[in-house]
Amino acid sequence: MADFDAIVVGSGCAGSVAAYELAKAGKAVLVVERGNYAGAKNMTGGRIYAHSLKKVFPDFEQNAPIERRIVHERISMMSPDANFTVDFTSDEMGKEGQDSYAVLRGSFDQWLAEQAENEGAEYIYGIAIEELLKDDSGKVVGVKAGEDEITAEVVLLCDGVNSLLTDQAVGAKRPPAHALAVGVKQTIELPANVITDRVLAGSDDEGAAWLFAGDCTKGTFGGGFMYTNKESISLGVVAGIEATANHGKAPVYQMLEDLKNHPAVAPLIKGGKVVEHSGHMVPEGGINIMPEVVGDGVLLAGDCAMMCINLGYMVRGMDFAVAAGQMAGQCAAKAIDAGDTSKAGLAPYKTALENSFVLKDLKQFKAVPDFMENFERMFCGYPEMIRDAMNTMFIVDGTPVQPMKKSMMPIVKQVGIMNLLKDVRGAMKAL
Ligand SMILES: Cc1cc2nc3c(=O)[nH]c(=O)nc-3n(C[C@H](O)[C@H](O)[C@H](O)COP(=O)(O)OP(=O)(O)OC[C@H]3O[C@@H](n4cnc5c(N)ncnc54)[C@H](O)[C@@H]3O)c2cc1C
Repeated sequence: MADFDAIVVGSGCAGSVAAYELAKAGKAVLVVERGNYAGAKNMTGGRIYAHSLKKVFPDFEQNAPIERRIVHERISMMSPDANFTVDFTSDEMGKEGQDSYAVLRGSFDQWLAEQAENEGAEYIYGIAIEELLKDDSGKVVGVKAGEDEITAEVVLLCDGVNSLLTDQAVGAKRPPAHALAVGVKQTIELPANVITDRVLAGSDDEGAAWLFAGDCTKGTFGGGFMYTNKESISLGVVAGIEATANHGKAPVYQMLEDLKNHPAVAPLIKGGKVVEHSGHMVPEGGINIMPEVVGDGVLLAGDCAMMCINLGYMVRGMDFAVAAGQMAGQCAAKAIDAGDTSKAGLAPYKTALENSFVLKDLKQFKAVPDFMENFERMFCGYPEMIRDAMNTMFIVDGTPVQPMKKSMMPIVKQVGIMNLLKDVRGAMKAL
């Protein structure tokens, strides 16, 4: 008889939700986390779209350590000396099921783990699982934790983007460097009312999500981000690993330092105190680099299965991880009840993912990673074009005004009208 019904590796969004579902179904479940506590190693931008969390914890707004509800969406095209921002706000964004919240993973992940523990899941911290146990037929039957071998009917891999185990589980290859980005982030403490005023929010419970393209990565594939927490601002940069290594104009930490000093950002964080500096990888290849999500005795959920997408105007990974964790936990519990945790017995998990927004959305955005990677003008070209166009439009210096067509055409021609049309068409097709 196995030591546990299920072992979950990793206590991020996917792992703790999977453990919660298994424990709620009465299963003996062990979560093994390499960090000293849940969230110790985790990082996000970040904002969680609430819809999938709500399905697991209907009252999470009352209990979870969420930061501010996002009511402003800002997107900026940033050149070294200018910044063009679109600011969108709408009542629709606050409606239940359509709402989203800034989160800090240290506190948020500990809360998720607590929910699983309250249902009876057991946690051990500070151990990185490096090896899966298999029986003679090759079925996964447990994990090696330090010197100990712990067995289970089913193992759920929720160990994030840098998984050591998906290769052993389902033969997944390391994602290629062009499909991975590296993120660095600082959490900058400021009084709540100062943040509220600076982002023009209506109250200390509301805030903004802000994505930047252009100078924040020195024109390299990637972008900057800013999310408002209750009493801090999360500010960071995400840059394509291959692009930065091959033709990046600055190391990623320097990109972040320069972003902090940009005239559009410096006033926002003025007087703030850096209380956290973190780095993490982001899987950006989406469904194109997704491994098999079911193996014999094993399931994969969240970033370890590449369930993440960066669309340029939004980043999503946590809502996928929560939903996949829920489906993995529920399907694993049913397979245990049926006495069949073979690949065939666990196959309903894949079907559930296919029928849900997780695989439907990732399929829909199949062409985005390739498009974004080759959308060089978005990072170097368009920000400068928009700066020049806006300077032409807004600056009055006594020079006789030219007809708009005459003043704008040379600016647009620097990028090329055909290039512009090509990029608009490409974006429409990919998105
Ligand atoms: C800079 C950045 C910005 C982002 N912004 C957003 C955003 O705004 N919105 C959004 O939805 N998503 C965002 N994401 C993506 C999102 O954070 C991830 O998609 C999400 O955290 C995935 O959850 P997960 O549970 O699969 O993995 P993780 O949260 O990475 O959890 C994996 C867990 O497994 C543990 N672990 C790893 N290996 C082992 C091992 N061998 N043994 C034991 N434990 C192990 C880790 O310590 C960790 O606790 C961002 C990511 C980054 C890096």
